[in-house]
Amino acid sequence: MCPIPRPLIAEPFNALSTEEKVIIIGAGILGSALAATLGKRGRDVLLIERDWKEPDRIVGELLQPGGVKALQELGLEDCLNGIDAVPCNGYAVFYPPEKVLLSYPADKQPNVGCSFHHGRFVMNLRKAARNCPNVTPVEGTAGALIPCPVTDQIIGCSYTYRDKSGETRSRNVYAPLTIVADGCFSKFRKQHITKDVTSKSNFVGFVLKDCQLPHPNHGHVVLANPSPILLYQIGTHDTRILVDIPGKLPSISNGDLHAYLENHIGPQLPATVQISFYTALKTERLRSMPNSWLPPSSNKKEGLVLLGDAMNMRHPLTGGGMTVALWDVVHIDELLASEKVPDLSDTTMVTRNVQKLHWVRKPLSAVVNILAQALYSLFSAGNDPHMKTLQLACFAYFKRGGRCVSTPVGLLAGLIPEPLTLIGHFFAVAFYGVYLLCTGNIDPHSNDKKRSSILDLPSNLWKCVMAIWTACIVVLPVIVSELKN
Ligand SMILES: Cc1cc2nc3c(=O)[nH]c(=O)nc-3n(C[C@H](O)[C@H](O)[C@H](O)COP(=O)(O)OP(=O)(O)OC[C@H]3O[C@@H](n4cnc5c(N)ncnc54)[C@H](O)[C@@H]3O)c2cc1C
Repeated sequence: MCPIPRPLIAEPFNALSTEEKVIIIGAGILGSALAATLGKRGRDVLLIERDWKEPDRIVGELLQPGGVKALQELGLEDCLNGIDAVPCNGYAVFYPPEKVLLSYPADKQPNVGCSFHHGRFVMNLRKAARNCPNVTPVEGTAGALIPCPVTDQIIGCSYTYRDKSGETRSRNVYAPLTIVADGCFSKFRKQHITKDVTSKSNFVGFVLKDCQLPHPNHGHVVLANPSPILLYQIGTHDTRILVDIPGKLPSISNGDLHAYLENHIGPQLPATVQISFYTALKTERLRSMPNSWLPPSSNKKEGLVLLGDAMNMRHPLTGGGMTVALWDVVHIDELLASEKVPDLSDTTMVTRNVQKLHWVRKPLSAVVNILAQALYSLFSAGNDPHMKTLQLACFAYFKRGGRCVSTPVGLLAGLIPEPLTLIGHFFAVAFYGVYLLCTGNIDPHSNDKKRSSILDLPSNLWKCVMAIWTACIVVLPVIVSELKN
């Protein structure tokens, strides 16, 4: 416990007792949901957000059924109401000229997700937080965490804000627990997390107006060359398109990005989407976001917890980030429940419980993280013939239907938090690829199927070994990163 005298700790919360104070930095998906939850539990929360206006972003627009379930657990499912959200029953995967429909599993509840404008959902979560009398919202940009000069424990943070005359001012606030939820570009993670953020691609996004999706109420994934395209309806008239672009982004200013989208991406889209796609290219602002990978870390620093994208990110292809964030809120709420931690200034108790989060969240977060990274590798196979084998095998696996669809989609939906089941299906795909190669049903070098003859045996054997090897190098590093603390 930090030996700083109580009056110093209490300074900014002078009207309130210090035992139940939590500072949350960032009122995005995680911070708002957590503030609302802790506030409802009777904890006093100071919620610092740099901009309370409705966010306008191309992220966090499809909530998996597992995320809906987390909202229900938190009593926040009403936040999906009144935002023109569109129910989502599963995915349609296009591998031109073929396609396959993947429905969320009928035997799980809830088995419907939904998609919406990100900002509208965030505003409802923020409203839920602000409606709690013991949540104090402040507009300000957190600048630095404050360590105790004696114990080094984090005892608060400083933030800047504009006063009524418009002048920028700075203020220090103190609390026994500071939770950092400042998102993917977190300014605090570097000091407290040793793992690096990596990014292999960007999503370029814009809105298509009155687009005719071939399968309404489904997310659409086009297995395009060189990497996937996502489409989902986010409102009655609006459909989000996210185009994955590996490597460096073509320049927007000199028109390279427009030309790439027009000439290379447009022709790969389903025919009914193309009209609104080409219209939107002329009218809509193109925006981009890096698709980042940050393996999870355990929170060890006393007085501090990093959560959400600040602590763990995965490729957004499978739309799992909000589901993970909302389940982290469920877990942290349970771990810090007042029956377990009556006094948040009992640092030893708080730290012990917070450290449990790393493994408590693992079943679900590992499934979402591994699936996102592995699926992205397969779906962005490019010209790698072994990766292409796995891509073709994955699509063929989905076409088998039954459990080859319901379990993988249940995993993706955040409804089956079983990493071993995921790994089982991943290698089932790889071995199915071996079978398809040997029977001549797929050829990663050509779209034509050809019957194998005995003369193909040596080269087929080599391709089979490489397919399994490729599956291992796709998935094993991600598994290892999940096991590291
Ligand atoms: C292109 C893309 C598409 C995605 N699509 C989906 C999807 O469809 N479904 C899904 O589930 N996930 C998706 N994700 C992931 C999802 O958006 C994130 O996992 C989720 O938003 C994380 O929530 P968060 O609360 O950690 O961060 P955020 O929601 O980003 O919130 C961070 C908050 O902190 C505030 N903030 C930042 N710095 C400061 C500061 N210094 N002081 C005060 N406030 C600060 C910000 O203003 C913001 O309000 C996508 C991600 C990307 C990149």
